Amino acid sequence: MKVWISRLGCSRALALRMDNALKINEIFFSIQGESSWSGYPTVFVRTSGCHLRCTYCDTTYAYHQGERLSIEDVVQAVRGYPAQYVCVTGGEPLLQPGIYELMRRLCDAGLNVSLETSGDKDCAKVDARVKKIIDVKTPDSGEAKAFDERNLQYADHLTEYKFVICSERDFEWSENFARQNNLFEKSNVLYSPSFKSVGERWLAEKILSTHSAARLQLQLHKYIWSPDTRGV
Ligand code: SF4
Repeated sequence: MKVWISRLGCSRALALRMDNALKINEIFFSIQGESSWSGYPTVFVRTSGCHLRCTYCDTTYAYHQGERLSIEDVVQAVRGYPAQYVCVTGGEPLLQPGIYELMRRLCDAGLNVSLETSGDKDCAKVDARVKKIIDVKTPDSGEAKAFDERNLQYADHLTEYKFVICSERDFEWSENFARQNNLFEKSNVLYSPSFKSVGERWLAEKILSTHSAARLQLQLHKYIWSPDTRGV
C-alpha cells in the first residue's frame, strides 16, 4: 500500500532546485478518511515540514523526515497508482514553493486533487481546480492565532473549513467563528473530534442538540486501521 520515498530511485535529489523540487515525507495509497471525499481510494502526498505545533498533531514524524524529489518524480509516483483522487497533505504543504506547480500538474493529469492546509498560509496561489480543506485552529489546538483571515475569501462549494474539536470551549468557539463568517452558508464546515480528547458520540450529540449546521467528520482510517498506523 505504501511506497517509501527511498524506493522511488531519486538519485538526483541533491541537484534539485527549490522551485522544481519538494521535500516529501511519504507517498502512499489508502482510503481517504476525511473531507467530503471520505471513502475514496486516494493517493496521499505528504510533504515535510510544519511551522506549527498543534497539541493533537499525529504527524510529528513529518516535521523533519523526508527526501527531496523533483515534481516530475512525484507526479510519476502518483500516476503509478490506480486512483482518481490525490490528497496533498503535510506537514504544511504551502511552505514549499514548488507545491503550486505540483498541484497544477496533478489537475492537468485529470486527477481530483485536494489540499489539506493549516490555514496559516494564504491559499491565493492554489489552482482553482483544487479542493481546499482549510483548518481553522481552535483555542485548545494551541495555535488559534495561526489562521490567516485572507483564507475566508475562498469560502465556496469546493472549499471545506475544518475545525478539530478538543473540548466544549472549542465547540462554542468554532460555532461562533463559523456563524460570524457565514461559513455554513458558503462551504462545508467539518467538525472532527480530537481523537484522544473528546468522543465522537459527544460531538455528534453536541451538533444535534445545538442545531449546528456542521458536518461531523470522523477520521475513517483510524477506525479501519490502528490509530497509530502510518501510511494508511
Ligand atoms: S498544522 Fe498539521 S502538521 Fe502542523 S502541527 Fe498542526 S496538526 Fe501537525
